[in-house]
Amino acid sequence: MVLSQKLAKLERLANKLGVRVVPGNANTYIPTNKIITVNMRQKPEKRAWSIAHEIGHVLTLDLCIVEMGIRALTGADHELPCLEAEIRAWYETDKIMRKLKLFSNEYIKYKHACIRSYYCSLNKK
Ligand SMILES: [Zn+2]
Repeated sequence: MVLSQKLAKLERLANKLGVRVVPGNANTYIPTNKIITVNMRQKPEKRAWSIAHEIGHVLTLDLCIVEMGIRALTGADHELPCLEAEIRAWYETDKIMRKLKLFSNEYIKYKHACIRSYYCSLNKK
């Protein structure tokens, strides 16, 4: 399977979960609209990692809301629960990456750069 097919497969997986994937300026999952936005300026491989990560949020958000509360995830005091939600989403991302044979050193570096950025943004507060 080539990369474009893997991207199409990720989009189908999102659709199966009731979520649309649309081009945007950042990688986000907007639960109220059931939309994943993807930064189209990224190279295709990075786009695949990002879509998979946002699908990870789709898969884990409901339980996160039950266990931590929506305010904990989106409100002002969201630092640690938010990090927990990210770790849960990355765990699902890893599974998707392995299934699509996109799990690589480059992917792990990207994941760790993201995780590092969460910690750095915590330290600034
Ligand atoms: Zn995330």
